[in-house]
Amino acid sequence: MQQVLHYFLHFIFPSLVAFFFFRTEWLKIYLIFLLTMLVDLDHLLASPIFDSCRCSVGFHPLHSYAAIAVYVVLLYWPVTRIVAIGLLMHMATDQIDCFFNALKC
Ligand SMILES: [Zn+2]
Repeated sequence: MQQVLHYFLHFIFPSLVAFFFFRTEWLKIYLIFLLTMLVDLDHLLASPIFDSCRCSVGFHPLHSYAAIAVYVVLLYWPVTRIVAIGLLMHMATDQIDCFFNALKC
């Protein structure tokens, strides 16, 4: 269940947001949303790289609360707004994972 929700929120939900809120250029917006997943490259700095019980939010540099605050600020400017929306959806998805992890780990 957690995996299904995780991949739905990372891949399907952003396509719905792009389609319903940016109808005329939804595919371009969706691709930008997908590119924001590169934020997970900060996992490469951790050891081990993957730990199913670790909460990414607040642990990895680009998932830190300071970084999330920057993503919120980036909502202000139209030129960075789409990237900020993608990053914040990503952080919300990772935070939901943390709630599941708190139950099982
Ligand atoms: Zn992440």
